[in-house]
Amino acid sequence: MSLAIDAATPDAPDCADDGTWLACIACGETFAPFEDVRYTCDECDGLLEVRYADPPTFDDFGAGADSEGPDRGVWRYREGLPFDLGVTLPEGDTPLHRVPRIEESVGVDALRIKHEGMNPTGSFKDRGMTVGVRVAQELGVGALACASTGNTSAALAAYGGRADMPTLVLLPQGKVAAGKVAQASLHGARILEVDGNFDACLDIVQALAARGEAYLLNSLNPFRLEGQKTIGFEIVEEFHADYGTYPDRIVLPVGNAGNTSALYKGFRELVQSGALSVDEVPKLTGVQAEGAAPMVEAIEEGNDEIRRWEEVETRATAIRIGNPVNAPKAIPGIRNTGGTAVAVSDEEITEAQRQLAGEGVGVEPASAASLAGLKKLRREGVVDADETVVCLTTGHLLKDPDAAYEAGGDPEPVPNDVDAVVEHLDG
Ligand SMILES: *Cc1c(COP(=O)(O)O)cnc(C)c1O
Ligand SMILES: [Zn+2]
Repeated sequence: MSLAIDAATPDAPDCADDGTWLACIACGETFAPFEDVRYTCDECDGLLEVRYADPPTFDDFGAGADSEGPDRGVWRYREGLPFDLGVTLPEGDTPLHRVPRIEESVGVDALRIKHEGMNPTGSFKDRGMTVGVRVAQELGVGALACASTGNTSAALAAYGGRADMPTLVLLPQGKVAAGKVAQASLHGARILEVDGNFDACLDIVQALAARGEAYLLNSLNPFRLEGQKTIGFEIVEEFHADYGTYPDRIVLPVGNAGNTSALYKGFRELVQSGALSVDEVPKLTGVQAEGAAPMVEAIEEGNDEIRRWEEVETRATAIRIGNPVNAPKAIPGIRNTGGTAVAVSDEEITEAQRQLAGEGVGVEPASAASLAGLKKLRREGVVDADETVVCLTTGHLLKDPDAAYEAGGDPEPVPNDVDAVVEHLDG
């Protein structure tokens, strides 16, 4: 079982390039990493994973800083990545906020918020793109493409622009938050609005990529997940520095389940190197919106496969996804770490968004799903009072200004006159 939490470090196959290769998680076939463009297994169409002969220990983190690149952010973890440095803005090194009032009201031993909205384009997608666009350069492809609920397109447009590569993005018409379309547009992507949902956009862009039109940078691309696994590395390093232990649980929103897969992969590599023991790996806990919860359904019913939801709806447009492509990687991640998955209502998401904002942490709706899920699991007694928890908030408040306006209070019009303003305030 290659996705077992205690799987041994694999031996490098002949096709490996400097101790790095691609392996199919379904049939085990291995491939050279940078010779051909490949998203899935040639033999069985299974998902691919980047493998390393020499997974990193904590001592490796930051190695080569200054001479090779920065000591902070994604590229601090170069020893655990396919390259030493990529196209960078730079990304990562996001805050692990303390939220004492929310911690108290949720009733857990410790609660921290890993705010990925503080990345250069305002979401964790930047971590994937800094690695993915570097790989695109290595492969020598001419153009980049993705389907997106918004943030992937914003990140790809920015990193494509930085790398001077043309970028094509496919968005579900009318279902992408304003800030994200604005970013993709101004960073110079060509934007196609598809009369369909995200899953339809992904079907189309996969077909375009298969025809060689562009290099696909959705999270189906295994190199994206390499960048994103550094979220987990930062969490365990920083949490350990503050508390001397690792968090019991990481709660995160689930869309395509790329992050869930990426965090699990990073932790498995730390187990392989001996840096973490199996029982130190945080319980990965996924949260979806009730209107788009195929992963929750699979976990609750004990299925190994997802049933694709054709109709999905939620205010949290970043996770409005009915067919999470990374489910075969993420389901073992949730199960093997002892985690779970839970669905929350849009009202619960909005309430959590307000609560975070009230403590100064501005996030978009999908991000607040993590806190909403934690609160629900705590109420249900699934999460214990003595647990230490990190909630991942994936995108910035300004990504979705309309949702923020709706969740917040209305501005009050007043005359241009001091006395009238005082009267208004007292009234
Ligand atoms: C992409 C995205 C998600 C979903 O992440 P997956 O890795 O696809 O599960 C959640 N929240 C925000 C803000 C996102 O942009
Ligand atoms: Zn295969």
